Amino acid sequence: MKKILITGGAGFIGSHVVRRFVNKYPNYQIFNLDVLTYAGNLENIKDIENKSNYTFVKGDIVDERFINDLFSKHNFDGVLHLAAESHVDRSIEDPLAFVKTNVIGTMNLLNAAKKQWKNNFDGKRFYHISTDEVFGSLGAEGFFTETTAYDPNSPYSASKASSDHFVRAYGETYGLPYVLTNCSNNYGSYHFPEKLIPLFINNIINNKPLPVYGDGNYTRDWLFVEDHAIAIDLVFHNGKNHETYNIGGFNEWKNIDLVRLLCQIMDKKLERIEGTSQKLITYVKDRPGHDLRYAIDATKINKELGWKPTVTFEEGLERTINWYLNNEKWLESVTSGAYKDYYKKQYS
Ligand code: NAD
Repeated sequence: MKKILITGGAGFIGSHVVRRFVNKYPNYQIFNLDVLTYAGNLENIKDIENKSNYTFVKGDIVDERFINDLFSKHNFDGVLHLAAESHVDRSIEDPLAFVKTNVIGTMNLLNAAKKQWKNNFDGKRFYHISTDEVFGSLGAEGFFTETTAYDPNSPYSASKASSDHFVRAYGETYGLPYVLTNCSNNYGSYHFPEKLIPLFINNIINNKPLPVYGDGNYTRDWLFVEDHAIAIDLVFHNGKNHETYNIGGFNEWKNIDLVRLLCQIMDKKLERIEGTSQKLITYVKDRPGHDLRYAIDATKINKELGWKPTVTFEEGLERTINWYLNNEKWLESVTSGAYKDYYKKQYS
């Protein structure tokens, strides 16, 4: 039985990846390592917690001794590394927390894998899941490809860029078999409501203002999270060692257009008079260092591994909104406590 370590599996994307791997690969023993920050929630993976091929490990990737002990207890065949501090606004408030988790945490995992696998890398794989934000900002034209130069603008993207570079360097210097993906914005179920789509769904439900940064013309490419999990599965199993793949939804939206669309759909779902939710739109002071546009060219993963999104944006949004409307308890639990204090500070 192969032992696979997935980090950050109690978070948004990680929970979808852990669920997919546990259900699809009964011959893998999946270890989900997560420290359970405000963004980590075991409710996200409650449906698989009793499966015999699943083990949850609570722990911090920043804690070098803990990581070394874990690797000495288990001989892992593969690592899928998703644990991270992931919210740009929080990185502006506290950049060092991002360096600790995203850079030092990744280094601890790289060192432990390198030591465990020594020079016998046969059948082993270290997979770093990263973001398109490392490439910086695009103008109105063009796309990020795998050869686009890194140009991070926020402390979050700088920390992810740094960890990407270390992963690549461990591949080149020590021969560590790695794969790396840079993906665009994800949306879907179990997404913590500080990120645009779940935040706005939650605020519309509660008749709260919809804070739109600047003039709302920031453009992002959106991918349904389950399609990201499918891509991760493909890259982990079939991607070439020492290669990077870009993953995107071929689905660009200006923030303001996306917010208007969400308002329209939500008015219908909540049986409100058309235009009710749009009145909640409130323009707020821009985020410093805000990147104008991200857009991914996902040709390489499409051509080499045959991946493309399986869900249209229409279907994905429908499924996401329905999920939030049917999971009020989940929303309530994550929007209490620490999250509320942070939210007040951010938008008051
Ligand atoms: P998330 O914030 O929802 O989840 C992160 C998880 O990591 C949480 O469960 C948290 O408890 C855990 N974690 C944080 N610090 C930890 C530590 N020190 N030790 C152990 N666990 C820790 O993030 P997400 O949106 O699911 O993103 C997952 C990964 O995918 C990240 O690496 C992110 O950079 C990348 N990514 C995200 C997106 C997106 O749109 N959300 C897009 C591309 C790439």
